[in-house]
Amino acid sequence: MSSHLFAPSYKPEPFWWERSPLCAEPEPALPTSADVVIIGSGYTGLCAAIQTARGGRHTVVIEANAIGSGCSSRNGGQVSTSIKPQCGDLSRKVGDKLAYDIIKEGHNALKWIGEFVEAEGLNCDFNVVGRFYAGHTPGQFEIIAKSIENPPKGLETDAYVVPKAEQHAEIDSPDYHGGVVFPRHASVDPGAYHKGLLGRAREAGATVIGHCRADGMSGTAGDLTITTAKGQIKARNVIVATNGYTRGLSHWQRRVIPIGSYMIATEPLEPGLIKRLIPKRRVVNDTRKLVAYYSTDPKGERILFGARVSIAETDPTAATPALHAELVKRFPDLAGTLITHAWMGFVAYTFDEMPHLGERDGIHYSMGYCGSGVSLASYFGTKIGQQVLGLKEGDSPLSQIAPPTRPYYWGEPWFLAPAVRYYRWRDEHLS
Ligand SMILES: Cc1cc2nc3c(=O)[nH]c(=O)nc-3n(C[C@H](O)[C@H](O)[C@H](O)COP(=O)(O)OP(=O)(O)OC[C@H]3O[C@@H](n4cnc5c(N)ncnc54)[C@H](O)[C@@H]3O)c2cc1C
Repeated sequence: MSSHLFAPSYKPEPFWWERSPLCAEPEPALPTSADVVIIGSGYTGLCAAIQTARGGRHTVVIEANAIGSGCSSRNGGQVSTSIKPQCGDLSRKVGDKLAYDIIKEGHNALKWIGEFVEAEGLNCDFNVVGRFYAGHTPGQFEIIAKSIENPPKGLETDAYVVPKAEQHAEIDSPDYHGGVVFPRHASVDPGAYHKGLLGRAREAGATVIGHCRADGMSGTAGDLTITTAKGQIKARNVIVATNGYTRGLSHWQRRVIPIGSYMIATEPLEPGLIKRLIPKRRVVNDTRKLVAYYSTDPKGERILFGARVSIAETDPTAATPALHAELVKRFPDLAGTLITHAWMGFVAYTFDEMPHLGERDGIHYSMGYCGSGVSLASYFGTKIGQQVLGLKEGDSPLSQIAPPTRPYYWGEPWFLAPAVRYYRWRDEHLS
């Protein structure tokens, strides 16, 4: 380990766990039956549980590791409209109406999460700070500037272009050639948000059990048995909410591609410096295909920087020198800045770059947020809970499309290393 990069207090775990440590309380016993069993205790699982428990269903959430230890307590806290495909591309695949409705779901999710956090009174530093989407080449800047022109009615975003000459008001970085501001995008403390959801799920009557891995499911719709590390539980309904950690659960692992995403937190910076680097405390990402995303922490003291830097998965400490180098590429002033935390987690991509929710063989699922799950996992988790209750509000156009897989894909993304190499080359050579 390059020791000159690491602060004496360095920890290889999420910065967010300082404020919101993972639960260490004794776990409740596994009941023998429930109306609804939810597998996975992230945003998807807990938002679904809030719905089903409030709907009067005896709800049990089971989690393979510590409660919330998946992506939902370790992400970058950036909240956006999130659906990856562009409207035009999607229209060609699924038709204009469905494409419009799907993109609209991303807008709905962003609006919904702000209202939900407020209505529930969740204390999680949810702030509408806006996003700066930076062009890393002049050509990419032109493309993103053009992409916000003439949005279809109902998909307006208030986004506006910031040319390179005015960019210093958004970010002090020599790496960019202008960008686009999305004023409605937000930031949140993801660990505190998860804690808030856990509290609401429990208050509603859900039982949440950690260290209780689901190893298999049998039975038919309405009469299912889940075999877990703590015994068997029978359920009328099951929701699979395992996203990037979906392994061993039959055909779902063939439909999501787990990809490691890596983050570092800097030591607290000098207040004048951080105010110059990201003056409006926006969340930031750029046009590189190997995505980098960053922001200040909620107190505005340090920078939290995330990216995909390694060809193969690695441990977060080993990834830190490359992440630090990417940070310094954007902010040369941070060359001597120390790192206090480094961590990683597995996001779930899908073969069509869209999330999917619905029911198959009597089992409900919601997953595949393609790295943008703070709003989507919460929104679709809520919807899948409503679908279990048979409520109209649970309808989503995304339930009309089954998650695709590919021949020779069984859950191990063997194609990831060549893809990362290709995208790295492409990011460096685009004009
Ligand atoms: C480093 C990083 C940065 C990110 N940054 C952002 C961001 O800035 N903005 C954004 O929108 N999104 C971001 N994401 C993605 C976002 O965090 C996820 O999309 C979202 O949290 C997914 O929530 P979830 O509940 O579906 O999955 P998770 O929170 O991952 O929960 C799934 C859970 O299922 C459990 N599980 C798996 N298998 C079993 C089993 N058999 N039995 C029991 N339990 C099981 C896992 O242990 C895990 O806890 C980031 C992710 C990472 C890793």
